[in-house]
Amino acid sequence: MPMGNIQKQKFQTWLTANVPNYPMPCTVCGRATWDAGEIVDTSGLSGVLAPMVQLVCQTCGNVLLFDAKKTGVV
Ligand SMILES: [Zn+2]
Repeated sequence: MPMGNIQKQKFQTWLTANVPNYPMPCTVCGRATWDAGEIVDTSGLSGVLAPMVQLVCQTCGNVLLFDAKKTGVV
């Protein structure tokens, strides 16, 4: 599901506080053009409720996934 503005702001704050070199270069294209993506419900795949939040490279589409609970987004 899409993130609202408050969730995006929480995610950005968490990234800045917990990822020392954020915005880091993308491992695929080398650019630092990250933006928050969507909250992904992985329970259908694993049977375990573990929502993930996407960080999407706006240049090449590479996606990093973070534990949405750990980031405070959900
Ligand atoms: Zn990239």
